[in-house]
Amino acid sequence: MDCLNCTSKNCRTTEACHAQKFDAAELVQTYHLPENVKIIQAAARLVDNGRAGTLSRLQEVIEFSGSMNFKRIGIAYCYGMEAEAALITTIFRESGFKLYPVSCTTGGFKQSEINTASKIDKVSCNPLAQASQLNNESVDFTLTIGLCLGHDILFNQYINSYTSTLVVKDRVHDHNPLAAFSVPNEIN
Ligand code: SF4
Repeated sequence: MDCLNCTSKNCRTTEACHAQKFDAAELVQTYHLPENVKIIQAAARLVDNGRAGTLSRLQEVIEFSGSMNFKRIGIAYCYGMEAEAALITTIFRESGFKLYPVSCTTGGFKQSEINTASKIDKVSCNPLAQASQLNNESVDFTLTIGLCLGHDILFNQYINSYTSTLVVKDRVHDHNPLAAFSVPNEIN
């Protein structure tokens, strides 16, 4: 399947695609599982009936969390974004949620402890500890804020709760990866 080079775009008129390798009927059944119905309907309420484009992502996650009846929200944040994590935590708390913000430095592990190729004894990012802490806090939902590439993969692999990225880290482009396209010759 190569959707970018497809000229028919049949799927956008609700037609099946000759290249698809998934079992459509099985997926519809999976959508209809009670736990997935809840997510799909909460997501739809954010955009249906003319609402698409009216909410910021932050507004969306707050409303989504309410729709999903989440009570305990984890914030897995990069310590470089602590001020922003604090603001986000305050906003959620004011909306009635219980917040569990956990810094990437939790555990105080040395870089040399977790990376056998490193001789650096300064504190390390520790996505496994972030995930473990939040799993033990029994959070319903976790937002990640600025986790490093790679650390985000490990965090997502080990966290047990529903998880969504609120802020993606891009140190060059003020945390907006798409801004790379506006810099001549950066993307070749
Ligand atoms: S019709 Fe198939 S190949 Fe074309 S855009 Fe849709 S899914 Fe992709």
